[in-house]
Amino acid sequence: MFKPQRVIFETGTLDYELGRSLYSHFSSSGIEINQCALNRVKSCIPGEDFSSLYKHGKQTLVIGVKKSLSFQSCKPSAHYQLPLVSGCVGQCEYCYLNTQLGDKPFVRVYVNIDDILNRADKYIQERLPESTIFEGAATSDPIPVEPYTGALKTCINFFANQKNARFRFVTKFTDIDSLLDLEHNKHTEIRFSLNTNNIISTYEHKTASAEKRIEAVGKVAKAGYPIGFLIAPVFIYEGWKEDYKNLLIKLRNTLDDDTAKNASFEIITHRYTERAKNKILEIFPDTTLDMINENRKFKFGQFGYGKYVYPKEAIAEVKEFFTKEINQIFGEGTIKYII
Ligand code: SF4
Repeated sequence: MFKPQRVIFETGTLDYELGRSLYSHFSSSGIEINQCALNRVKSCIPGEDFSSLYKHGKQTLVIGVKKSLSFQSCKPSAHYQLPLVSGCVGQCEYCYLNTQLGDKPFVRVYVNIDDILNRADKYIQERLPESTIFEGAATSDPIPVEPYTGALKTCINFFANQKNARFRFVTKFTDIDSLLDLEHNKHTEIRFSLNTNNIISTYEHKTASAEKRIEAVGKVAKAGYPIGFLIAPVFIYEGWKEDYKNLLIKLRNTLDDDTAKNASFEIITHRYTERAKNKILEIFPDTTLDMINENRKFKFGQFGYGKYVYPKEAIAEVKEFFTKEINQIFGEGTIKYII
């Protein structure tokens, strides 16, 4: 479970019941506590340069009130992002949040979950009779802070009663016990982001091991949730095929036939932008991440900036490998996409 070094309460959070109970919890645990306005949060976190701000920010929990209730779109995996948490306690070297959150690497949770769900309800009504899908992990991994906020629990209960909406989120963590007994009505899909132990131990600092994640997969599957797997980023290194195949076999062995047949796979090969590379090198100057542009193919993305992907032949090999293995181990029809 995530134990922050400091907790910052933004102005107004103590007007909410969750804010007050978190305040009482953290004040009795001896953790450093600050109170300040949203625009002063950064000044309560030590660190002059980007790298030390990252280090201290990752140990900081900010408790806030979500004021802007206009949800971002979340194509192609969902219609909207559900803003429950921003930031993540993990320290994956390749993480997209390094660029997206920039100098705000702290974890921020919200005390007004009811306001957020009321807004979600309006979006659902606007899209009727179409269904609306919400993604709960677009700018965060919400699981490590779940024991504090219970936000996912509240959302799973909310979506269980929605005929025309579904909820999904993805995680690399395992604090899922409080979600196991909920009446979810299969309206929430829990996805696990997985990788080989080689990649996890080298690049996914402060996250759960593959074994622990697979154990959590087993629990969530037993609780009847629809489940999915995000294998990302896939790296090509010596022995990659053997490692990924072992991962798939271990995963299959924890699931019964029905769950395995209904699981979904999303497979994404490693890629980076020049901007991400520069940020990563600032935080992890000794990284061994393969970011040699000459080894990659430059591809223009849909948002106007380019990224460096594996060459065409390598991607074809990854596609062939995962298609064959997943079809054999899990059955056909479980792969959503491989890119
Ligand atoms: Fe980023 Fe996910 Fe790693 Fe958190 S767990 S640092 S969100 S990649």
